[in-house]
Amino acid sequence: MSSSPEDEGSYTLIAEDLDMPDATVAASPDAGFARADLTTFCRLDELGLEVTGQRLELDCAVLACRILEPDKWCRRCGCEGTVRDTVIRRLAHEPLGWRPAMLAVTIRRYRCTGCSHVWRQDTSLAAEPRAKLSRRGLRWALEGIVCQHLTVARVAEGLGVAWNTANDAVLAEGKRVLINGEHRFDGVTAIGVDDRAPERSYLSRSERM
Ligand SMILES: [Zn+2]
Repeated sequence: MSSSPEDEGSYTLIAEDLDMPDATVAASPDAGFARADLTTFCRLDELGLEVTGQRLELDCAVLACRILEPDKWCRRCGCEGTVRDTVIRRLAHEPLGWRPAMLAVTIRRYRCTGCSHVWRQDTSLAAEPRAKLSRRGLRWALEGIVCQHLTVARVAEGLGVAWNTANDAVLAEGKRVLINGEHRFDGVTAIGVDDRAPERSYLSRSERM
């Protein structure tokens, strides 16, 4: 789009012609806008999560989340479970700008009414088992290193996690991506840690042929 003064002039004329009362008219569904929604904005719907609250701290944003899928049927006998209590799982998510975004996911613990088996709500859409990064956070870290050439230290700072946490997660995900042959990282040919200098963990990238 050109930003010449002529264009601005014609836009003003059009706006006046339509007699728009204020700028909110431009945010209508007809103009392609949906209702503002933190869950979809942060792509948490892809992770099976929904935002239930936000806490903006000086150097971090915390998003309280719930899991969309109830997961209340016993995996052993198929009976219905009753909610016993809840636990919080913290996951580093992709940051907005330079501010880390943390997820505080409320996870239900169920007890089976038939066999007394106890289980937690499935969070596999949101993160790998025992992971400290959400799947989006992990993808952000990997793209940062492979595509943007950020250091592990910078990625860790962006996520608001320890260097080792970011490094371990990126190496594990890099290996998984390489093994699965995902096209997004076609340029990546190797991944590893220099044992003598762990700060030099790397994903190496070949020039495309
Ligand atoms: Zn059961």
